[in-house]
Amino acid sequence: MRRDAYEVLGVERGADERQIKKRFRVLARELHPDVNSESDAEERFKEAAECYEVLSDVERRQIYDRYGWEGLDSRGKAPHAQGFGSFSDIFDAFFGGDPFGGGRGGPGPMQGGDVGVETEITLEQAAAGATVEVAFDAVETCDHCHGNRAEPGTPIETCPRCEGSGQLRAVSQTAFGQMVRAQVCDQCGGDGKVATTPCKECRGQGRKATRRTLEVDIPAGIADGQRVRLTGSGHAGDRGGPPGDLYVIVVVSEDERFVRDGADLVSVVDVAAPDAALGATVVVPTLDGEQEIDVAAGTQPGTIVTLRGHGMPQIGRGRRGDQRVVLNVVIPRNLDERQRELLSEFAGTITEDNLHEPRRESIVDKVRRALR
Ligand SMILES: [Zn+2]
Ligand SMILES: [Zn+2]
Repeated sequence: MRRDAYEVLGVERGADERQIKKRFRVLARELHPDVNSESDAEERFKEAAECYEVLSDVERRQIYDRYGWEGLDSRGKAPHAQGFGSFSDIFDAFFGGDPFGGGRGGPGPMQGGDVGVETEITLEQAAAGATVEVAFDAVETCDHCHGNRAEPGTPIETCPRCEGSGQLRAVSQTAFGQMVRAQVCDQCGGDGKVATTPCKECRGQGRKATRRTLEVDIPAGIADGQRVRLTGSGHAGDRGGPPGDLYVIVVVSEDERFVRDGADLVSVVDVAAPDAALGATVVVPTLDGEQEIDVAAGTQPGTIVTLRGHGMPQIGRGRRGDQRVVLNVVIPRNLDERQRELLSEFAGTITEDNLHEPRRESIVDKVRRALR
């Protein structure tokens, strides 16, 4: 369902041409991507542009008022801002150039791109923090021509294609009238100058890909899939622009002893059924070395023992998580003759009391007993 054109522009149904134009101008400036970083700003701008296209045209507006959007569609009078090209094209058509005066798309410093690189560490490294070496390819300013694209000692001349302006202009007819579209010159890339002999090292690019290695500090407590950002370690910028960033994506390898649950670690230890019945001491691995834990007499399968502070550190917080040890009571298998005898004899002695936990008297039970 398409929104009402008057509603989109925020004008009364009886608004005159001047009011509509004024309102669209305000909206367009609000939604310009240089000032509005919301992800739907461009879609909203195009929607507003279409509504403006309809309401600013007497014939279209009459059709819209009587028959709505379908009326325009069926008469081939639908607005076409959606298929109109880029945001800045619409802007140029309406305002005759970028109202913010920036050199968007034109020649000028451009920030380098970001680089992502993956590194795998163990759970111990994630717990303690680590310094890892990462290797990646990044674009760097060519050190042979220092980024000016010409073989050192050869002249740089004014670009013959754009005559030094760095831009090429194309005029076309659009729904908004004549549109002048400025494009970056494809011969000089917007510099307005070309090297007569391109740099041999970078083939006239001014930049080239280089293998780089860096030592990166991984903070203690990092989780699988988290990223460490190194500002300015990405691709070099162009025309004096700043470099991009490096993102190190940390993969924490699985550890067969522990399962991570946020800041907590969960591990499982087997306890033979007789030990669980009699009580015993078992040894469990922790991040801080092996540790003995007491298994109380009468321990049931699935009982959890918590080792406070033996989990993972938490980034930015002082306290470590816990380790939860699940006691897996194992029923003995493959009994030999002697074991069968002993167990049969034991089985004969079992009473109800051995199988059920003595039930604690609840408040309701106490009341019942008092009333009896
Ligand atoms: Zn070079
Ligand atoms: Zn040029």
